[in-house]
Amino acid sequence: MPDTSLPRVHRVEGSLFPVNAYIVETRDTVVIVDAMLGVSDGRALRARADALGKPIAAVVVTHAHPDHYGGISPLLDGLDVPILAVAGVDAAIRHDDASKEQILRPMFGAEWPQRRTFPNRTVKDGDVIQFGSATFRVVDLGPGESPHDSLWLLEADGRTVAAFGGDLAYGHMHGYLADGFYEGWRRNIVRARGLLGADTMLYLGHGEPGPAGPLLDWQERYINSFIDAVKTIPSDAESGTASDAAVTERVTQAMQRYLPGDDLLFLMQLSVPPMRRILTRELREGPLQ
Ligand SMILES: [Zn+2]
Repeated sequence: MPDTSLPRVHRVEGSLFPVNAYIVETRDTVVIVDAMLGVSDGRALRARADALGKPIAAVVVTHAHPDHYGGISPLLDGLDVPILAVAGVDAAIRHDDASKEQILRPMFGAEWPQRRTFPNRTVKDGDVIQFGSATFRVVDLGPGESPHDSLWLLEADGRTVAAFGGDLAYGHMHGYLADGFYEGWRRNIVRARGLLGADTMLYLGHGEPGPAGPLLDWQERYINSFIDAVKTIPSDAESGTASDAAVTERVTQAMQRYLPGDDLLFLMQLSVPPMRRILTRELREGPLQ
């Protein structure tokens, strides 16, 4: 008998910092979307999946950042499960993992897994993948928030009922722009807007899920505000000579006017020096992307 019941989505939040993984529960199996960063969070995700009493059919990796794939090793400890990603996400993870080790080991110690598990099955734009009653359609977005992003549409009866966006938008938290693909990110938002209804539930890597329309609009304005704030040189005294710390402080004030509070503020602050250099280069040499 075909399984026609709609899958149920469980959100699992990290304990180390605010990051989400999702368990998509079908009648007979579960599919995990992203796995957070650390050993304890990956184990907790496994415990939540096991408590549902259904085998893990697959893991989906939405994008190339370590706070979404680091937890796969503890999640899958002892299991042989397909780990799906578009080829660009897979390649970026493998390319950048050694440099992420240099950054994350001092920050997170033993929580950052000694051995990371990478995707083992690549999929491509437009692929439709079925797990029990869950039908996913793959949207390969390319560079954006990370060096390579993807969007996973959950379909039922031929229509999109929900989407997993990774960090395509943050649920009203500060964001990471240090990879520099801000033009790609804005293009990805426009593309997602064309694929999703304004009311389609969008499950994100950080913060509360919600209707896609307002979340995508909010994220676009956040990116624009950040770029404007980094570009703005308030006085002659600062032009070219201000320290990264001084510029970061000024950009922080501007961004906290857009989004008060400090959820993931450190990600935005880490992004100021690299974005300052990218924008300075673009001013000299024209757009880089
Ligand atoms: Zn993230």
